Amino acid sequence: MERVLITGAAGFLGSHLTDRFLKEGFEVIGMDNFITGSPENIEHLKNNPHFTFIEHDVTRHIEIEGKLDYILHFASPASPIDYLRIPIQTLKVGSLGTHNVLGLAKAKNARILVASTSEVYGDPLVHPQNEEYFGNVNPIGPRGVYDEAKRFQEAMVMAYHNFHGVDTRIVRIFNTYGPRMRPNDGRVIPAFMGQVLRGEDLTVFGDGKQTRSFCYVDDQIEGIFRLLFSEYQLPVNIGNPDEISILEFAREIISLSASGSQIIFEDLPVNDPLQRCPDITKAKTLLGWEPKIDRAKGMKKTFEYFKQLPRERLYGEPYKNFEKYNKS
Ligand code: NAD
Ligand code: UDP
Repeated sequence: MERVLITGAAGFLGSHLTDRFLKEGFEVIGMDNFITGSPENIEHLKNNPHFTFIEHDVTRHIEIEGKLDYILHFASPASPIDYLRIPIQTLKVGSLGTHNVLGLAKAKNARILVASTSEVYGDPLVHPQNEEYFGNVNPIGPRGVYDEAKRFQEAMVMAYHNFHGVDTRIVRIFNTYGPRMRPNDGRVIPAFMGQVLRGEDLTVFGDGKQTRSFCYVDDQIEGIFRLLFSEYQLPVNIGNPDEISILEFAREIISLSASGSQIIFEDLPVNDPLQRCPDITKAKTLLGWEPKIDRAKGMKKTFEYFKQLPRERLYGEPYKNFEKYNKS
């Protein structure tokens, strides 16, 4: 059996990737420190003989016994409220954590794919964003801790590729959503769905004219899977180019849920990108990939997930593990 290490395995994307690799007949080692992830996301795997879980902070040296064929590095806070609350951990996981997994890939002669992000384009001046665009990032703004960690990560990956010949892949993920997102992680979809389910008003930041393009998780996982097994070593955007303003999106969620919630406006966070939409020409031509699940279908599936969550998770404390892990 081929062996895969997935960092961030207890998170939203990491847990879906874990399921996919197990389904494809791989042996999976999941690694996570639960700083933003949740044991519930991998609970269903506890008796799976092909899955092993290691609780570990990837910013510390990583030891894995035996061979490794692939590494997928997905450990990192991903929601703006998470990385604003744990800025130093965010910088460390993108830099020191990436250094550790690259060293491990080199030692094991494993192919490694790292999770980068549309945030490397910052508040973009090119629209839609293609992979050649260098971005417009404020390094000292509040989002700099995430954006610059991910930009450093890409530079480190290319250096290991060019200097050590490590077999690398970089996926630039655009806003992805679906079941297993933390209800209180602050990202717009869990935020709005949580608000309608709790009977609260929806908090639109700024005037709501800023845009995003939302990709359903199954499409994202398929794109990542294809990229890993392609021969392409430069970054590839994976996302759904169906762009919508946040205000229009809030209205969609209200009608989807048949809720009586109203829209209220709050301040736009500093450096919040005003528009975002992936150019997916590369993914289409190199991987034969494009999204298959439209927003109406994806939102319905996601809403079903949030609806069945126990009350304590819907109302729960958003930061339960931060105090424990933010000391290192
Ligand atoms: P998530 O917060 O649900 O998952 C991240 C996981 O990494 C969590 O389980 C967390 O506990 C773990 N983690 C964080 N720091 C760690 C450390 N030092 N050691 C071990 N584990 C650690 O977020 P997600 O949405 O699943 O994002 C996963 C990856 O995808 C991240 O690298 C993120 O930057 C990237 N990404 C996601 C999106 C998206 O829309 N979901 C968009 C762009 C990029
Ligand atoms: N947003 C909002 N209300 C919320 C949460 C987010 O209006 O309660 C907006 C946010 O300002 C941004 C967009 O929704 O313009 C997407 O935010 P998210 O945190 O999901 O991710 P981002 O794409 O900014 O990383």
